[in-house]
Amino acid sequence: MLRCPLQLVRLRLPVRQLSDLTTKFTGLGSFSNLNYDQLQSSLRTDSSQCEQFWKLIGEQQLNWMQPFHTVSDCDLKSAKIAWYLGGKLNASANCIDRHLATRADQTALIWEQDEPGNQVYITYKQLHAEVCRIASLLLQSGLQAGDTAVLYMPTGPPVVYCMLACARIGVAHSVVFAGFSAEALAARIQDVGAKVVITTDQAIRGGKTVELKRTVDAAVKSCPMVERVFVSTRTGASVPMGSIDVPLEKNAAACSADCAAEPMDSEQPLFVLYTSGSTGKPKGLVHSTAGYLVYTSLTHQHVFDYRPGQDIFGCVADVGWITGHSYVVYGPLANGGTTLLFESTPAYPDVGRYWETAERLGLTHIYLSPTSLRMLLRYSTDFVTKYDLSRLRVLGCVGEPLNHEAWEWYHRWVGGGHRDIADTWWQTETGGVCIAPRPSAEGAPILPAMPMRPFYGLEPVLMDPATGAEVTESPAEGHLCMRRPWPGMARSIWGDHKRFAETYYSQFPGLYFTGDGASRDAQGFLHITGRVDDVINVTGHRLGTAEIEDALDSHPAVSETAVIGYPHKLKGEAVYAFVILKDGVSIDRLGDLRRELKRRVRDRIAAYAVPEKLLFTDGLPKTRSGKIMRRILKRIAAEDYDSIGDISTLADPSVVEALKQHHDLYQ
Ligand code: ATP
Ligand code: MG
Repeated sequence: MLRCPLQLVRLRLPVRQLSDLTTKFTGLGSFSNLNYDQLQSSLRTDSSQCEQFWKLIGEQQLNWMQPFHTVSDCDLKSAKIAWYLGGKLNASANCIDRHLATRADQTALIWEQDEPGNQVYITYKQLHAEVCRIASLLLQSGLQAGDTAVLYMPTGPPVVYCMLACARIGVAHSVVFAGFSAEALAARIQDVGAKVVITTDQAIRGGKTVELKRTVDAAVKSCPMVERVFVSTRTGASVPMGSIDVPLEKNAAACSADCAAEPMDSEQPLFVLYTSGSTGKPKGLVHSTAGYLVYTSLTHQHVFDYRPGQDIFGCVADVGWITGHSYVVYGPLANGGTTLLFESTPAYPDVGRYWETAERLGLTHIYLSPTSLRMLLRYSTDFVTKYDLSRLRVLGCVGEPLNHEAWEWYHRWVGGGHRDIADTWWQTETGGVCIAPRPSAEGAPILPAMPMRPFYGLEPVLMDPATGAEVTESPAEGHLCMRRPWPGMARSIWGDHKRFAETYYSQFPGLYFTGDGASRDAQGFLHITGRVDDVINVTGHRLGTAEIEDALDSHPAVSETAVIGYPHKLKGEAVYAFVILKDGVSIDRLGDLRRELKRRVRDRIAAYAVPEKLLFTDGLPKTRSGKIMRRILKRIAAEDYDSIGDISTLADPSVVEALKQHHDLYQ
């Protein structure tokens, strides 16, 4: 890979006025003159406008090999979703080839390696050649359109090449986060029926080496369907190579750097991606080629106000998650952007890593998770303020509810008190951002700690789980559903459409049920209250986990909390809070802190919300994408240790033992 200077990054642009956000539809016929509120109301009230809108967007966002004849054919009652029927296109060509005429020498990828200061720039021209070589190799190995391949690779150029090479020849990829155990990997390979696995000799993350090839060796022992394992080189360490193993780069180098992008049907599966598994058995969600690409490119452009050729988009998510798929790879590349591939962790070599990277690479956007913010705010703000973050324009966040304390910290220290914070709500199932503060009307405020507004054409509704009826008044609370389909939504669960229909479309017929709870304030802005399965019912009062955690997190000594409900003789359920304190808080203060934290919840919410139990801990059980697994905490609180289940997918399984011991001592 060649190192080449990033073009255009030093251009200093005048800050664009919010009013520009209302004029993006120029050239879009009847939508050109509408602002956000007018557009939303026209799309909500008039189905034919909605159809017309998505038709124009489909035509505008992508290059088609054959135009579509039908915009959509959806019936949410029967979980049938299809968009842009009759159209043919290729996702890889839309992310690379169509940019070559104007952007061949523009940087497409910036690989920020684990060791700071080792960034590698890859242009669109280089990306094209690498993707073509790997696509040619995959074709030679017998893969064909309709097959599946599992990618177990760290974030870096090779995984992007492989994703786009698969897309180029119509193979659905399934990226499995390169940190999962052999058992978790095998389950996903089997579920998706992959003929080919692509992996890397070793990964490097946070200064540590991770044995990926060895894990694949252990996994494929129980996967007879796997015919070939391609091995990419990251560290060059000698790893055992068996009869089905093939070195990736060496063999790809001998293949043609020109490989035709095959025309695919709009609904051809582009990829299968397993959810984080925060709540149970992971689901392999299937995303389409056309609808997914239309939606991720549109949201990337409008939610983040992204300007290709000028901006550097810094989404620090791993490519193994949906955030990585949509906002590291497909959205930015479909838009002809420059995107960051972040190999490291927020704390390596120290907790200033994100900000040091932002300064060195001149990032204009950073997109991260609340869990990393809550970790970073434990430490001195010097780790942020010593860097020049003046190029940053939009600060995004996704993954869990963003509490006020973390929002304020992000806004003040990273955002200089004036940059837009985009708290984006979405899911693996939704393909792209569904609720976010932007785009919005001229001068529209961004309120702390809530995603606020639906994206164009989306219609969130709150449902009453008891009556099954829609809650129409505001302010109100309910189960968050979506009334109108949108192009980016998942099409199925791989191999199990029945589970798909039951999970998302049976509880409230005709609506997509998200599994999350939300509240709507008097102005109509949305706030996520947590997963509905985690709602705590204290003497008939229903409490979302996010609200109590938000109150606890606001205490200056607290870095992060997780609350759950546990069975209680009198109250039905009572609140149990697990609390991580900031660096340097003295243990002599624990008694006082316990009282202060309880008082805080009483003052900010209500007496019935006060945690009955409050346990100080050093760690919480989290998925590898950093989300708290409350179901494990519930088992610990109920002392139901035998049914804790598989903890191998946790980022740090040893946390569970420590928590059990703490809990026992605390009783
Ligand atoms: P599983 O479905 O297997 O339990 P998961 O839901 O954690 O896993 P993802 O699809 O990665 O898998 O995460 C989506 C969920 O993350 C949402 O349903 C929501 O609970 C939470 N989430 C994402 N963004 C936000 C946000 N901005 N505010 C609040 N919650 C969010
Ligand atoms: Mg989920």
